[in-house]
Amino acid sequence: GGHQSMLIVGALFIVCSTMSFYAVVHDEQKNEIAERARRDPLTGLFNRRAFFELAEKLEAQNAAFAILMIDIDHFKSINDNHGHLGGDRVLVHAARLIQGAFRTDDIACRYGGEEFVVLTPGSAQDAAALAERLRSDVEHTQLIRETKITVSIGIASRGLHENVHDWMHRADDAMYQAKQQGRNRCCTAP
Ligand code: GH3
Ligand code: MG
Ligand code: MG
Repeated sequence: GGHQSMLIVGALFIVCSTMSFYAVVHDEQKNEIAERARRDPLTGLFNRRAFFELAEKLEAQNAAFAILMIDIDHFKSINDNHGHLGGDRVLVHAARLIQGAFRTDDIACRYGGEEFVVLTPGSAQDAAALAERLRSDVEHTQLIRETKITVSIGIASRGLHENVHDWMHRADDAMYQAKQQGRNRCCTAP
């Protein structure tokens, strides 16, 4: 009797620990998949989906935040001169510069091809100072094979109760203005 019940307890122990082991593994895999879905595979920055998730969370609050819309100037010619793979390497370098220019509270994302957005807490002046530093860092950094790039940056700080869509639109307009005024510059949205 005693011998048999010990065997049963032992067997149950093995079954339970195996099950919990697989539950932990499954959980970790789930987390990894979820995290990967939020990242851009080329640069490792957050992707567009993660950006909107985070920005919509901010919508509910009224903290001072700014969006920086960053677009690489004449990127097509980088691809023409270095091929698409060379262009990809430049994008990885640019992403590193962007990541390095900001603080840990800032959220840097690859928005599309050669466009990046950063969500940064603080005033419009704080954001403009960060943007100007990044613009200058990029201008003075040598990338692959003596290639240099420049960026145009649009800055928009969030209006009171403004939704993400309108806010992004203003940042994009400001970026477009920076392009029109000759590129390699920062413009703040009214
Ligand atoms: P502008 O100064 O007006 O921004 O000029 P631009 O050439 O940067 O702008 P445009 O939007 O016309 O071209 C963007 C180019 O970026 C076109 C496309 O081939 C390239 N591109 C987009 N995504 C990627 C990518 O993932 N890798 C590489 N290598 N190139 C990309
Ligand atoms: Mg573009
Ligand atoms: Mg461009």
